[in-house]
Amino acid sequence: MRSSNPRDQLKLDADEMREMGYRIIDMLVDYTGAQSQFPVTRALDHATFEEILTEPLPEAGADWRDVLEQFERQVLTTIDHLDHPRFFAYIPSSSNFVGAMADTLASVYNIFNALYPLGTGAAVVERACIGWLRKLCGMPKEAGGIFVSGGSVANLTGLAVARQIQLNGDMRHAVAYCSDQAHFVIARGLRILGFAPEQLREIPADADFRLPVAELERAIAEDRAAGKRPFCVAATAGTTNTGAVDPLNDLADLCEREGLWLHVDGAYGASACLSQYRGQVLSGMERAHTLTWDAHKWMFQPVECSAVLVRDRHWLSETFKDTAHFLSDAELHSKDEVGEEMNFMYQGIQLTRYFRALKFWMSLKVFGLAAVRAAIERGFELAELAESLLRDAGHWTIVTPAQMAIVTFRYQPANGDEMLAERVTDELQGAMAANGFAFASTTKLHGKTVLRLVTNNPRTTASDLRQTVQIMGRLAADLERQLNDRRAAAG
Ligand SMILES: *Cc1c(COP(=O)(O)O)cnc(C)c1O
Repeated sequence: MRSSNPRDQLKLDADEMREMGYRIIDMLVDYTGAQSQFPVTRALDHATFEEILTEPLPEAGADWRDVLEQFERQVLTTIDHLDHPRFFAYIPSSSNFVGAMADTLASVYNIFNALYPLGTGAAVVERACIGWLRKLCGMPKEAGGIFVSGGSVANLTGLAVARQIQLNGDMRHAVAYCSDQAHFVIARGLRILGFAPEQLREIPADADFRLPVAELERAIAEDRAAGKRPFCVAATAGTTNTGAVDPLNDLADLCEREGLWLHVDGAYGASACLSQYRGQVLSGMERAHTLTWDAHKWMFQPVECSAVLVRDRHWLSETFKDTAHFLSDAELHSKDEVGEEMNFMYQGIQLTRYFRALKFWMSLKVFGLAAVRAAIERGFELAELAESLLRDAGHWTIVTPAQMAIVTFRYQPANGDEMLAERVTDELQGAMAANGFAFASTTKLHGKTVLRLVTNNPRTTASDLRQTVQIMGRLAADLERQLNDRRAAAG
């Protein structure tokens, strides 16, 4: 049984731990401080994948330096960094170093945040963070919530609560509604919960990409007349495509009148409530029964960090409470209401869960809410700047103006050729990836391709945007020339 080799206990000795830790910290600080000097996209090298994919099982251990070196050489080099100041694609996650260090603490101390008596301090911190989010968005005192991995699971959790509380679990003939701009995880969440595809009605959005209330009302009446049971409206506060916000107050009124559940997907946009003026567009969000809010999108946390808030905190345990004899001794100590509410294993999908609230708590305390507000405000301003730069350049059409730090646009050739506009807009994304200075992504709106710039990284500078718009203009002109040449060659 005796072993002198610390590795047999999966340990490193103290000096080695320090060396490894310092080495990693040096890597991370060097990276974080100099990010904008690196290309935003990485070249794919299938040969390195192949080497990793075909590696034999590592029966014998190796030096951590070699493994770290392999990580740097073969893994890190093929990763796009969502926190790069010129990563404008999808929804960036700009992260912050304090939050990342908090993740390290949560991980090394291996904090298990599922049962109040086992990790009281952690449970209290998570509860406090949920309380902060509740206050920020204006939900009532009775509200509660839980941290989850991301918007996908937050939406699934919210919809599971809707199914339990609103339908008492009886899904027959039940119908939910959202716009065609809702994130696909709404449909997926309902599917996971056992709803048939026809139990979700996707209402075509209006010209501003918002859920049209009159059409929704008509669909609800139609469904009721057909003997169906409308039960839930899944609104979006900040669509992924354009940042459009559904008319939340009108939807809340409608839900009240019709006795429906209002779920709001604010995965991206909910954070905008920290902006005093621009956040007013979210008015009515606080009336949601359930609300999704990703902290890894616009509250600057490292992935994965999201919260789902519920208007009445008892709904979570009513949905997720179970019993297990092997946990009953631990539960004994949390019979009072406070403890009950902080037994997070009964408030959501996971039993074993890590302490992801720590990064939110620590970074908010270190930087302060005022800095977070300013960072959010900056996101709005950067998108407004991007919009004006694009307008000034003269060869772009703004499709949706800056909202929620998102602007969408299309290339506008001088001759007004729509086919050419479509091709250039579509191909520009690839050209930007190859160029490596800045990265944007495309989506389709009303059947046409648009480029999106999402500017929610507070470390993006005005100069980053200016250069990005210049480079995009140059790449687009090159593409236009190439396409015209190809057309001419084809006769
Ligand atoms: C990103 C996003 C999601 C999905 O959230 P994840 O954190 O990626 O799981 C859902 N809804 C909206 C509106 C989003 O922007």
